[in-house]
Amino acid sequence: MSVGGWLERDAQLLWHPYSSLAEPSPVRLVRGASGVRLSLDDGSGGTVEAIDAMASWWCMIHGYRHPVLDAALKDQVDDFSHVMFGGLTHEPAIRLAERLVEITPAPLEHVFFCDSGSVSVEVAIKIALQYQVARGRVGRTKMLTVRGGYHGDTFAPMSVCDPVNGMHSLFTGALQEQVFGPQPPAGFDRPDDDPEFLAWAAAMAAVAEQQSDQIAAIVVEPILQGAGGMYPYSPACLRVLRELADQHGFLLILDEIATGFGRTGTLWASEHAGIDPDILCIGKALTGGYLSLAAMLCTAEVAQAVSNGPGGALMHGPTFMANPLACSVALASIDLLLAGDWAVRVAELSAGLSAGLAPVAELPGVKDVRVLGAVGVVQLGGPVDMVRMTDAVLRRGVWVRPFRDLVYTMPPYVCTDDDIATITTAIAEAVREVGC
Ligand SMILES: *Cc1c(COP(=O)(O)O)cnc(C)c1O
Repeated sequence: MSVGGWLERDAQLLWHPYSSLAEPSPVRLVRGASGVRLSLDDGSGGTVEAIDAMASWWCMIHGYRHPVLDAALKDQVDDFSHVMFGGLTHEPAIRLAERLVEITPAPLEHVFFCDSGSVSVEVAIKIALQYQVARGRVGRTKMLTVRGGYHGDTFAPMSVCDPVNGMHSLFTGALQEQVFGPQPPAGFDRPDDDPEFLAWAAAMAAVAEQQSDQIAAIVVEPILQGAGGMYPYSPACLRVLRELADQHGFLLILDEIATGFGRTGTLWASEHAGIDPDILCIGKALTGGYLSLAAMLCTAEVAQAVSNGPGGALMHGPTFMANPLACSVALASIDLLLAGDWAVRVAELSAGLSAGLAPVAELPGVKDVRVLGAVGVVQLGGPVDMVRMTDAVLRRGVWVRPFRDLVYTMPPYVCTDDDIATITTAIAEAVREVGC
């Protein structure tokens, strides 16, 4: 069938992320993917290749069709692809849980597997509520968070997303009302005697103090707010949140679904601040982008309190919990990451992105250029024309997915220096061509 035929059928049938069926925005047909490149149908029977500068929404860190990950998946298919996790267990889940406990911050000792990042945030919030009940602190039913966050699209995560970007007004009455503090001041390198930082810390302390008897946990993305705006903030802010949690008996939930597995330059973004969470959510790059899998990890203290509390159980159990295919490919992906020089690689990517994007800051209409780890962001002075910008970048051999006023890249770690140069040149030229 011609590409036109497929795309017409798609437009009639399918929702894509955040899309309208009345005015579907264009989609492209993928014919294949290998290494860091997508093969897209060019509309006339051929294909056009593009470097995937999104790593398929930040997941595909080792690239497509990696022989080691392919083999892990095929081997597991030959054993068994899925079994229920109620009453049954299997080596891939046990081995992956052990590996995660080994490589995540030391106090985290127990693992709950689920099928998506959003669900892991649901489970994190649920276990925090159960923890406070078990501690006899009734009435602690709210989450404290900061503006500008993104934690997923199901209802509990949506309630802690930024109220404006997350369109809370659409769901008034249906969404749990949470406690919002101000967004941390921008900038990873902001000094901790900076007046804006001090004002933010004081504002957070005041919010925490006022509503401490209603707050069960703090939930934030450490160091880098992702889908809320690709917005880095300083490690000192995270230390403030850890202190507030300790002072008031809140749990600290860190959502490292986007930042985990080295993306910001350390394996976990919390390491920049030298603090540990009580509860951690991971997903996205966990399986190297092959399958949907996420996990909630928690401390022994949290696990024991909940297990000895009313009900005794953590009240969650997805059908595809700890799917063996996903666990096997996750193990292979983690082994691959840790066997290589991932920290050096991310630092090299970071240097390449910084050098390549620096000239973009000088272009008219560009508000800010920022790089943290293997994340490169161009912020324009107004909303991006997503369709034109995507086209302009793609004509230069690169796939991006801009949003709001942002054109950004989170490239696969296996990108070469040349690939990074192609990405930054494409973004620079497209920003010059399209502007905002
Ligand atoms: C993507 C993301 C989620 C949601 O994960 P899904 O797998 O899409 O449900 C949650 N938190 C953060 C920080 C994310 O980047």
